[in-house]
Amino acid sequence: MTTIHRPERAEGQWAVDGRAPLNPNEVFKAADNPLHVRERIEKTYARLGFDSIPPDDLHGRMRWWGIYTQRRQGIDGGRTATATPEELSDRYFMMRVRLDGGAITVRQLRVLADISDDFARGTADITDRQNLQFHWVEIENVPEIWRRLEAAGMRTTEACGDTPRVILGSPVAGISAEEIIDPTPVIQEIVARFIGDEDLANLPRKFKSAITGHPSLDVLHEINDISLVGVVHPELGPGYDLWVGGGLSVAPRLAERLGAFVRPDQAADVWLGTIRLFQDYGYRRLRTKARLKFLLAAWGAQRFREVLETEYLGYALADGPAPASSTLPADHIGVHSQKDGRHYVGLAPTVGRVSGGILRGLADAAEMSGARRIRFTPHQKVLVLDVPAEGVDTLIEQAGRLGLTASPSPYRRATLACTGIEYCKFAFVETKSTAANLIGELERRLAGVTLDRPITVHVNGCPNSCARIQIADIGLKGQLQKNPGGADEFAFQVFLGGGLASAARDDAGLGRTVRGLKVTADELPDYVERVTRRFLAERGGDESFADWAHRADEGSLR
Ligand code: SF4
Repeated sequence: MTTIHRPERAEGQWAVDGRAPLNPNEVFKAADNPLHVRERIEKTYARLGFDSIPPDDLHGRMRWWGIYTQRRQGIDGGRTATATPEELSDRYFMMRVRLDGGAITVRQLRVLADISDDFARGTADITDRQNLQFHWVEIENVPEIWRRLEAAGMRTTEACGDTPRVILGSPVAGISAEEIIDPTPVIQEIVARFIGDEDLANLPRKFKSAITGHPSLDVLHEINDISLVGVVHPELGPGYDLWVGGGLSVAPRLAERLGAFVRPDQAADVWLGTIRLFQDYGYRRLRTKARLKFLLAAWGAQRFREVLETEYLGYALADGPAPASSTLPADHIGVHSQKDGRHYVGLAPTVGRVSGGILRGLADAAEMSGARRIRFTPHQKVLVLDVPAEGVDTLIEQAGRLGLTASPSPYRRATLACTGIEYCKFAFVETKSTAANLIGELERRLAGVTLDRPITVHVNGCPNSCARIQIADIGLKGQLQKNPGGADEFAFQVFLGGGLASAARDDAGLGRTVRGLKVTADELPDYVERVTRRFLAERGGDESFADWAHRADEGSLR
């Protein structure tokens, strides 16, 4: 076993402290570039089977290719914190397909549908980072899945791990009449130049990117490590406003503007400079302090920009304007006109859960209506692009039969759920079916209630906040607690009134908690119904749920 020597106060910043690894993850990354595991999967593990995979590859490097062991069935949430990785891990894998900008064709959708049916027991989840995730994947089938994906122009490269993860992109890039700038060329350039580059495959932690040119601010730019947000510079024309250092999880922090304007031709190099800065200066001693947000918190925006410009770009960026607040819904649900006269249609699956059959049915429906392009969104939704006017009704009818509705209830529209205990090793509670049950109950109980905008409900299985606990109107964090009798009980801690500038709140920020407020899955429909009715009774004028929740008495929020 490698002994880790930690010099006093060293944070593990490569540019300051040198490259000696200070924690076990840094050890396995330094020992062999994690991207090299692909060759071993193809040549050895897929042939010899699960038991041939050594721990550092199984629990470490395989993530660099989007593959994670899924949770062993039957291990309840009470054992999440105490079981070893071996006990928690099943012999099956989650596989994440990175879909940068969420953009695929109908032909690619059919490939995903076939992989789901052939190798993943029909599973498929659209994530809130525009990826598609399969479950029940066996190591023996991984090379064939890669062959099919890559033949169709898709991949799993760096979909997980300490890497540049999928790049969120506006789902209406290039088609929306309201768009300030089309981010597609920048996303494509970054992916082509840098994804899979071994030099960028050992970051302190994950690195999340988001790029939009749409005024609805539809990629949650405040919670990514780097975001480029479309703006118009008074002299330089359309380009991007640069944000860095956002992230949620256990130490949530919203990103900050650097006040810098990025021309489209500079964007890929600014992205590279930022990720290299993170690679060199990010903290590698403690995994819990390694995300870029901690470096930004220590340095401040001004120093961050100076280092970026002087050490990585070699030139100064122009100062630039901030994006305007958005008054448009960012989920793109419903029927909308494109700038070319055709339409895009935003459809809502329930909490992102689909299947091979649904994906294939969607491909059929899209083709029947004359469409050939699909986009997944950061809200676990799916858009069908380029629908001619005469095809819209057909699409809506066919998609509706699949459970994908263009006019969802506010509850179906605005509820997200992470993977949860069904497959995730970090989870304490069930999320997807809890959320689906909640949606059904609210649709029934609040059928006669009118909401001028949906109340967002985000259901998370643990504090990691994959479904963004802290920025929902009602955020739910799964945890284990003791009930009054002293027995273990699974419940959700409640966060209220979170929001972002992209959700059109002037005082955008993180949700508040209420002392002692926890809700079990069984209590959840009663709780959300109660707090929704109280909001409607107590709100002033067109006050938002978030504004009300921040000023309401704790009693109103219980
Ligand atoms: Fe798993 Fe927790 Fe993320 Fe949910 S929030 S998917 S339980 S890590």
